[in-house]
Order: sequence, then C-alpha cells, then structure tokens
Amino acid sequence: MKLEVLGTHSAFVKSGVNNSFILWRQADDGILLDCGYSVFQELQRRGYSDKIGAVLLSHQHQDHAGSAVTLLEYRCNILGKTTAIGGAWGNLPQSGDGADARRMTTSPDFMLETFAVPHARGMECLALFVADKLLYSGDTAVSVLDTPQAARAQMIIHDVSLKGGAIVKIDDLTAAAPEIKAKTYVSHYRPEDYDELCRCARKAGLGGVLKAGMMFDLD
Ligand SMILES: [Zn+2]
Repeated sequence: MKLEVLGTHSAFVKSGVNNSFILWRQADDGILLDCGYSVFQELQRRGYSDKIGAVLLSHQHQDHAGSAVTLLEYRCNILGKTTAIGGAWGNLPQSGDGADARRMTTSPDFMLETFAVPHARGMECLALFVADKLLYSGDTAVSVLDTPQAARAQMIIHDVSLKGGAIVKIDDLTAAAPEIKAKTYVSHYRPEDYDELCRCARKAGLGGVLKAGMMFDLD
C-alpha cells in the first residue's frame, strides 16, 4: 500500500489543495481521506476520479468535505461507478440532489476504525484509523497520539496549528512517546506557516511536515 499526499492546506488559503490523502491499495484503487472544496478539481486534474473506490471524511467543514458529494455524483452519474463511504458523512441527501450518489454507495471492504474527537461543537468529528495502518486525526483540538490506534499505526497524520484552539497546537504533541512521534507527520497549514511548522516539528521530534506530492510505502 502507498500513501500519496494530495494536499496539505487549511481553509482560507489563496491557492493549492486542501488537506487530503490517498491510500493506494492498487494503482487503480485508492482510498481518499477527506475531500475539501479544492480536492475534486485536483482529482480531475490528475485523472484520479475513476480510481477512488472509497471516500472517508473526518468531519463536515468545507475544507475537509466541500467537494465530496460532487465526487460521488461524478462517479455515479458520469462514470456509473459505486463508491464506498465511511466516517463523518453527515446528512448526504436521501432524496433530491445527491440521492443517486447516495444510492450508489457501499460500506468499506477494508478495516476502518473511527473514534470521536473534540473539534467543532455540534458536528460529528472523527479520527480515522484505516486498514490497520494509517491513523489520521482530521482537525482535532487534542492530540490523538496517546490512543491505542496511535500505538498500532504504521504512520500517523496529525492536523495541527501554531496557536492551538479548535486544532491542537503542534507543541502539544511533544508529550507523546518518542516512537509514536517518529511516525507522526503533521499537516493542515497555510503555506506561509510551513517553515515555522518545520522548526516546531524538528524540535518536537516528529517525523516531519507533509507536502503535496509526497509518497510513503506502507507494508
Ligand atoms: Zn475543521
């Protein structure tokens, strides 16, 4: 299995691709983690839309889920393909616009564990542990590095911020065990914050800061 970093940007950036990742089970079978408002266009640009067999969402903020229904509708109405969905899909329409896309969804055929994380009041927010390999925090106000899933994961993607609040401050990951931190990569940032995040990640003993286009091998 390979992990491809599609985008790493938070909301409110001028350009680039929202935080989004693909776990490739095969070259034509990808599991997409989060599908923010800029992600569908990036999938189209790369010729990936017909290769995304599953879409997992951490929560419904638009920089994480803004083009997810469009992707489902494209796959259903244009490609005639079914898509597995999991995680925090919320109220995807049961009738009217989006209903066909809902009809052509299935459950994931791989291991998916989710657990609730604090982030936005009144909104379902989930950490995603995928295929017993990758733990993705989504936006969370606290570190998930002390969870059983973090111990089991081969790789962890943790959204962070420089200041804390609704998204955990990168410095707050420092308390985790060294072997957990070494496999943890941070994401979800404004391009202008990249250098500062790299400094903080080094200081905290983390694996690094993700960038679009990076690839990782997962056994
Ligand atoms: Zn959010």
